[in-house]
Amino acid sequence: MSSPTSPATIALPTKPTPRAPRQIRNFIDGEFVDGIRGFDKLDPVDGSLVGQVHEAGRVEVDRAVAAARAALDGPWGRMSVIERTRLLRRIADVIDRRAEELVAAEVGDTGKPETLARDLDVARAAMNFRSFADTVAAAGLDSFLTELPDGRRALNYAVRKPLGVVAVIVPWNLPLLLLTWKLAPALAAGNTVVVKPSEETPSSATMLAEILAEAGLPAGVVNVVHGFGAGSAGAFLTEHPGIDGVTFTGESSTGSAIMRAVAPRVRPVSFELGGKNAAVVFADADLDAAVAGLARSTYLNTGQVCLCTERIYIERAVFDDVAAGLAEQARRLRLGRPENPATTTGPLISHAHREKVRSYLDLAVAEGATVLAGGGIPTLGDGLDGGSWIEPTLWTGLDNSHRTVREEIFGPVAALIPFDTEEEAIALANDTDYGLAAVTWTSDLTRGHRVAQRMRVGMSWVNTWYLRDLRSPFGGVGLSGIGREGGHHSLEFYTEPTNVCVQL
Ligand code: NAD
Repeated sequence: MSSPTSPATIALPTKPTPRAPRQIRNFIDGEFVDGIRGFDKLDPVDGSLVGQVHEAGRVEVDRAVAAARAALDGPWGRMSVIERTRLLRRIADVIDRRAEELVAAEVGDTGKPETLARDLDVARAAMNFRSFADTVAAAGLDSFLTELPDGRRALNYAVRKPLGVVAVIVPWNLPLLLLTWKLAPALAAGNTVVVKPSEETPSSATMLAEILAEAGLPAGVVNVVHGFGAGSAGAFLTEHPGIDGVTFTGESSTGSAIMRAVAPRVRPVSFELGGKNAAVVFADADLDAAVAGLARSTYLNTGQVCLCTERIYIERAVFDDVAAGLAEQARRLRLGRPENPATTTGPLISHAHREKVRSYLDLAVAEGATVLAGGGIPTLGDGLDGGSWIEPTLWTGLDNSHRTVREEIFGPVAALIPFDTEEEAIALANDTDYGLAAVTWTSDLTRGHRVAQRMRVGMSWVNTWYLRDLRSPFGGVGLSGIGREGGHHSLEFYTEPTNVCVQL
């Protein structure tokens, strides 16, 4: 069912040597341990077996939480901030030294191009540890003098203490990047952690456990349990009375389930959830830059980044030019093996996810879309047809009333929709239950600021996308999340302040 607008493909002359399937175990109290049963992890590139994952049961989750509690009450809990920041920097150094192993783990699980795994996922993992070492080293104590009307004076200060044992639950799209984005601030603030990586991407978290031990992190401070969500390790962890909070990245519906799980014990949550992100292109924009930027924001990581653009509103005067430019960019993408440096685009994470994305390809057509690029499942040959590939796709002819334009698809797809006025563009962009990210393309900087500030989102870019200073707040509104991460914003979640008031 390859369409006439299929993207070009590149076949590698030789296939890589087959790997031996690995055993991917849980990491509890400093040791790798078996689970209650195993499940297969398949390579999304060609459907081959990557390894057997050991699923943690209630007993393993109990042991992991107990190990984290014991570590919190042990020497880790007494470690100074300076010692912790030294340790974080050592972890970053070991990540740098073992970067190629991590790239291989990430590529094996996700099928993403090696260049992307190296330059984005693994580079950011090391950067996450360094950045939060800097943040925690710079964090001061708030102190202030109180003077009451009766003349009493007091010195107030706040001591920020770790939240405690933190459950960290992460998705499969940027596995190591998103895990370390939570782990680094959690450790910087002195917490202990139980991690539940995605069942689709267990490898890099397991390798990171080894790296943490190699860098000198005491046993029990970070534990990794593998498995699924409901009825498995994810739910066992969030329902566990021994955890002090949950930080989660994933689907909005999973966020709701986790909120229900922690509600009886009123634990704090930090949520980075789904998105249905909009870009707005004004006629005065540098159109070449806008088209290149839109291609990146639509197709990076095969559209499997929470920040990716799935709705593109284009001022009517330039609609046809932008649409033609973007279709050309979509056709230029190269689907192929991750180790081929010319590959720009990998497969979707799994056949199940491809089935979800494919159902939207059908739905879009049923809703009246015209397919401008892609629209089907490609035939790639070269042993790749067992993989979960999909064509980078663009639609016109849809509007905000259509499900395709309202629901998160999480694939390499976007609907192009014309608008006439600035007010209309802002209203269309904000007409969503989500609120993660938005992009405004314009040469008028006053308009850029004006529109960017009116976007009902956590991150609003102007003439760029996914440019991140790790100290700036990251998160969403509405169905896109609760709380902000980044720099001192992360410390708000990972610490609990105690106010000490001393009468003078
Ligand atoms: P998902 O919600 O299906 O799974 C995420 C994690 O939660 C996995 O580890 C899974 O096993 C676990 N889980 C599932 N059900 C659970 C339950 N009932 N209790 C406890 N744990 C449970 O999400 P996914 O498919 O892995 O990831 C894709 C989603 O993540 C998309 O919606 C995307 O937008 C979102 N995402 C958001 C951000 C962000 O920063 N806002 C970043 C990346 C991905």
